[in-house]
Amino acid sequence: MRIGVLTSGGDAQGMNPALRAVVRRAIQRGASCSAIREGYAGLVAGEITPIGWLDVSYILHKGGTDIGTARCAEFRTLEGRQRAAENLMRAGIDRLAIIGGDGSLTGADTLRREWSRHVQDLLSSGRITPEQATPCLYIVGMTGSIDNDMWGTSSTIGSDSALNRIVDAVDTLTSTASSHQRSFVVEVMGRRCGYLAAAAAVATGADFLLIPEAPVPDWRAELRQAVLAGRQQGRRKSIVLLAEGAISVTGEPITAAMVKAALEADPGWDTRVTVLGHVQRGGAPSSQDRVLSTRLGVAAVDALLAMTDGAEPLLMTTAGASVSPRPLMHCVAQTHRTGAAIAACRFDEALADRGPEMTELLDIYRRSAPTGVGKPQRTIVVANLGAPAPGMNAALQTVVRLAASEGVRVLAAQEGLRGLAEGKLRRLSWHDVDGLPSQGATILGTNRWLPEADDVRLEAALAEADGLILVGGFACLTAAQRLRETLPVVVVPATISNNVPATDRSIGSDTACNVICEAVDRLKQSAVGSRDRVFVVEVMGRRCGYLAWTAGMGSGAEVVYTHEQGIFLSDLIADIAALQESFTRGKSVGIVLVADGASDAYDTHTLARIYGEESGGRFDTRVCVLGHLQQGGRPSPGDRVLASRLARVAVARVLDGKSGLVGEVDGAVVVTALAGVTADSMNRRPLARRVDGPGVSGLAPAVR
Ligand code: ADP
Repeated sequence: MRIGVLTSGGDAQGMNPALRAVVRRAIQRGASCSAIREGYAGLVAGEITPIGWLDVSYILHKGGTDIGTARCAEFRTLEGRQRAAENLMRAGIDRLAIIGGDGSLTGADTLRREWSRHVQDLLSSGRITPEQATPCLYIVGMTGSIDNDMWGTSSTIGSDSALNRIVDAVDTLTSTASSHQRSFVVEVMGRRCGYLAAAAAVATGADFLLIPEAPVPDWRAELRQAVLAGRQQGRRKSIVLLAEGAISVTGEPITAAMVKAALEADPGWDTRVTVLGHVQRGGAPSSQDRVLSTRLGVAAVDALLAMTDGAEPLLMTTAGASVSPRPLMHCVAQTHRTGAAIAACRFDEALADRGPEMTELLDIYRRSAPTGVGKPQRTIVVANLGAPAPGMNAALQTVVRLAASEGVRVLAAQEGLRGLAEGKLRRLSWHDVDGLPSQGATILGTNRWLPEADDVRLEAALAEADGLILVGGFACLTAAQRLRETLPVVVVPATISNNVPATDRSIGSDTACNVICEAVDRLKQSAVGSRDRVFVVEVMGRRCGYLAWTAGMGSGAEVVYTHEQGIFLSDLIADIAALQESFTRGKSVGIVLVADGASDAYDTHTLARIYGEESGGRFDTRVCVLGHLQQGGRPSPGDRVLASRLARVAVARVLDGKSGLVGEVDGAVVVTALAGVTADSMNRRPLARRVDGPGVSGLAPAVR
């Protein structure tokens, strides 16, 4: 079987990782693959060439698409599509993996529906032989769209990277805006979808948000009121996030110039406009996009190869980390329905179509506005526990602001539970947490101190509190079990290792994966053009292999060692032999990722020595221990958004008088009762966590 792969429509970071996954999975499954260059333009022109394993080496970290993309008017005509059908049949392709937006996917379906007509015409005109004729065309799509605008999928290829570009830009603008006490209107992409603007607003704590799905009545007055309220609280700058498709409640477009004019109607409000434009499409894909695209590509090939008897086209969709197929044209039709709902000003319908995350983001944004609630009637305490994790500050901001919106005051413990036991509590106001999401680690301080069972100081410190929110790592479970008889305790998992059970992700792990992927990108660059080299890279996680596993997928590591899989001498011998073989075939750099607690016998340096000793002179070996670099840095937007979504539910839960652990499962925020949380306590990790099958891990090629 031969699969054709093409990228079409607007480019998106992650198209290259998806391409790599399609090609390699096809080869793994015994199929062959051809690349169709420049989208449908190449299909119509017959630019179709076989593509192999090594052709997609070293592209995982590259933005854009190496096989080109284009918009092609000819493919919209019957004649153009007939030439496309002819070229496909001549190339022996009856299965297409398409990475593109809803336009590209619609075009593919049109070609499929016309297939038998094309076959007849091409046969009768002698343009193909009977041997070349194939009865049907099978199609699987993956949504390449930075806007995250496809119905039925939680993330599209490129949207996380675009969000990274936007949040980088807003963080950068913030310092200059504060210096001059300016307002900035930042226009971001999203002609029909406000996801990027809404997620960026939450991730940066923006003052005002204008998107297509949720227009603001009397937006000029609301805008000025929001900016004024922030200034009255002591803010020195104001950020307005504007989706390019923002409209008023009656459907008129709102432009950046209109927003600027509205702000400058008040004398002295110095306002600047920044249109981010194509910057959002550029740059390296984020680790999340690399992993997502890899999973989608593998699933797409598996689905394509299973298609028989004229099977309907499928779209590979995501729900958090899970990938599942849905009928392609149903997703496209639903997406168009959302667009029609916006055009007809049926905004509730449009918002419901976008799924729960969008509603959560808007709720966080709206309730984070400065409030003038009277004397607080209730109190919640928030504390960190365990190692610092990027995103803890974003969680703190949301806890403080959403509690304030309910008329609840927040007391923050300084330096974890030890500080709490010592009575080190500080009341945090709306302004105290301003600008926090962009700051790494935690302003509260954190440590691993846990109370003894008979330590009554904590109970005394919490005597006046209505609930406690613990933001931190695995130790939170122990603390929560000890304290939950005293008052409602809600755990918000925040640890780069992602070793807390009952959640697919914990706050901080996304930033750490980005750090690892960027570090590996640099290591690879350092070796290219010098000499054949294998880097043994140690990452955090101890007994939990999530970081090694996920960053291994995102960085294209050849081998990943985790404690869950164990390290055995027989594996080492096989892995080294496989690497030797690859170097013989032309590889010049190899990456071995090791979780720092993967094995007591074979620590990182021992592994590196074994690799060096047994390399047969094919490569030399270097060790790189990333260490605490992984805990630092500006939190990624993924971590900030996750932190705010989890904190939102944590506040609601604790104010409801209940304990629990808030996590994200299959993309949805869920609460698990503490009694129902089970863990492998000895190894400090979940009892079992779903990991990708050998298909995904085998792309590059051995994971232990
Ligand atoms: P996207 O895929 O990002 O939505 P476009 O809508 O521009 O981008 O579509 C990309 C290409 O897909 C178009 O240039 C055209 O070749 C093809 N295409 C889009 N819509 C159709 C359609 N309805 N019928 C046939 N081809 C289409």
